[in-house]
Amino acid sequence: MGDKFVPAAEATISVRTMAFNSGWSVFEGIRAYWNEEEEQLFVFRLPEHLQRLHNSARILRMELPADIDEMVERCRSLLERNNLREDSYLRPIAYKGLPTKLGVNLLDAVDEFVAYCFPQGRYLPTERGLSVGVSSWVRIQDNAAPPRAKIGGTYVNPALAKTDSLLQGFDEALMLTSEGNVAEGSTSNLFLVVNGELVTPPSTEDILVGITRGTIMEIAEEEFGLKVRERVVDRSELYSVDEAFLCGTGAEVAAIGSVDGRRIGDGNIGPITRQLQEFYLDMVRGKNPKYRHWCTPVHTS
Ligand code: PMP
Repeated sequence: MGDKFVPAAEATISVRTMAFNSGWSVFEGIRAYWNEEEEQLFVFRLPEHLQRLHNSARILRMELPADIDEMVERCRSLLERNNLREDSYLRPIAYKGLPTKLGVNLLDAVDEFVAYCFPQGRYLPTERGLSVGVSSWVRIQDNAAPPRAKIGGTYVNPALAKTDSLLQGFDEALMLTSEGNVAEGSTSNLFLVVNGELVTPPSTEDILVGITRGTIMEIAEEEFGLKVRERVVDRSELYSVDEAFLCGTGAEVAAIGSVDGRRIGDGNIGPITRQLQEFYLDMVRGKNPKYRHWCTPVHTS
């Protein structure tokens, strides 16, 4: 918290904190994977997540307490001090603290920083096809509150979509843009398999430009020779694709078995999705030497 390590019970904030009052915070969701053979925890794409945190912070006129290299070291140190020997989650938050005046001027509140971590296994099931439903809550648009930044307050938007979708009996929500095009899952990006090619909505379609999305695009081309197209996706296209999956730090690679009650493929994990999923789940644990540079080891001794 700030530039000190404190026990969780002492990491408290004032009720006047602007992040709490108005959602003025930016955050990241980062996974660390335990590699049993090496007895080592690896953080997947840590510098990239911290770079995105920095970019989100700029949008809210906020500064991170240190440069990316130093932030990487602090995150490593946090995980090391917690001595986690299992798959874990790391949550850094840069936020606006106490206000100097009443109002909505972002510059009238001080910049603060906190990060914490905890054990975390699967977020979405990866062993079956998920049932997803297109939400009636549309994704926020860039010129209202930018979805490309992970801003605390803007997560009311996917929270409404996800909660309603669960109460309707779906595993997950898909959100459309205010134009009616397909944007993304509640906390994941969408890929479709169409005629043997991967299709994903472009970064300008009111999505969070996911780090997993970028990872999948890279390995799909490099390892599986798949063509990846970033293009606008209509809702009705979803119902006739060969395969579909969601991806994200939390979601990892999760197959979609049905959309709005219409089965995708045979309703299970499609062959291309399965290949990408297996490759991904191996790589994030530091087991693939070619992609080891994406895995930051935690324990240095
Ligand atoms: N979209 C949203 C809205 C998200 O919250 C997330 C999770 N961070 C993603 C997509 C996936 O992004 P990433 O792969 O960087 O975790």
